[in-house]
Amino acid sequence: MIYLDYQATTPLAPEVAKAMGPWIDEKFANPHSPSRWGHEAAAGVEVARKQVERAIGLKGGSVAFTGSATEALNWALKGTVEKAPKGRNRIITVATEHAAVLDTCEWLAGQGIDLTVLPVGRDGLLDLDLLERELDERVLVVSVMMVNNEIGVRQPLTAISELVHNAGAIMLSDAVQAIGRVELCNGPDLVAISGHKIHGPKGIGALWMRKGKEPAPLIHGGGQERGLRSGTLSPALCVGLGAAAKLAEERCTRDYDHVQKLWNAAIDALGPGWTVNGSTTHRYHGNLNVRREGVDSARLLADLRDISFSLGSACASGSGRPSHVLKALGLDYRQTRSSIRLGFGRYTTQTELVDACRRLARAAIEQEKLDA
Ligand code: PLP
Repeated sequence: MIYLDYQATTPLAPEVAKAMGPWIDEKFANPHSPSRWGHEAAAGVEVARKQVERAIGLKGGSVAFTGSATEALNWALKGTVEKAPKGRNRIITVATEHAAVLDTCEWLAGQGIDLTVLPVGRDGLLDLDLLERELDERVLVVSVMMVNNEIGVRQPLTAISELVHNAGAIMLSDAVQAIGRVELCNGPDLVAISGHKIHGPKGIGALWMRKGKEPAPLIHGGGQERGLRSGTLSPALCVGLGAAAKLAEERCTRDYDHVQKLWNAAIDALGPGWTVNGSTTHRYHGNLNVRREGVDSARLLADLRDISFSLGSACASGSGRPSHVLKALGLDYRQTRSSIRLGFGRYTTQTELVDACRRLARAAIEQEKLDA
């Protein structure tokens, strides 16, 4: 199989598997118990926390572990609403956000929050003038992702954070597809990440919180994570996320350069007739979302079963629903149905990528001939 679905999930790095090994095999102690073994596990968790904080690279805050980025984003939004000062009852987000943000915001709207979902341009970028016009003293939190999972578009988070802070609001950013892939932007008060998108394990994420901006707890119980997120931590998963974050930090430039080369090779190998969805410049180039007029992408998927690529987010691909992100760019139904996402990264070789792109191009041309 040629794996080209790096936005859905990434292969576990061998270094991560090695770091997790002892915590799965022998070191089973509860990191919150007062025994010597418990202390050893707690120390392992704390080393991992520092590794994650270093990789995020923001100053003046700390990380709490969660079960996923979805949990971190739910917590950030719902917990911030829980602590909202009087009069701040508005959330602003963007039409191209992940479902973990959009669906949570919709749920909060059902509870009485005033929700504004801003559109994006054809390039997938948020218009900062529009955002500035929307910001007022009623805005509590603004949620904008750093790198989009479906189209790879990078929002200017530093500039966005400045506008949000000028309005006295809290800036939340989903950095799931950004960490380890691009340099993280300064500015956000709350940042969510996920282990399995950075060659770490599934079932763990983290929320970085600026001091003083911690959301109210969502999960109550044993008071772990400074009373902010109860539940026994898994040392194996924490150590795995820490090791993945350390690698992401160390290899960020190398991985980035590798991805730039892969992008150029993929564009060449696909040949003419394809249009990139979203900005080609304000983009992480490990995400190649392209369309070809008239092609049925579901048929491509069925024809090339040994190439793992996607029709959008993993969730959208499964449901058969047209992608809300491509719709937000202004693509019509046929254009969304003729789009595919190729995601590549650290372990993708140029040979396999070029082979896959050539076969995709041939299969698309075959379809055109059959349909002519
Ligand atoms: N945000 C983005 C941009 C994602 O791509 C994903 C995963 O698809 C998530 C959030 C959710 O992450 P997790 O799988 O850790 O819940």
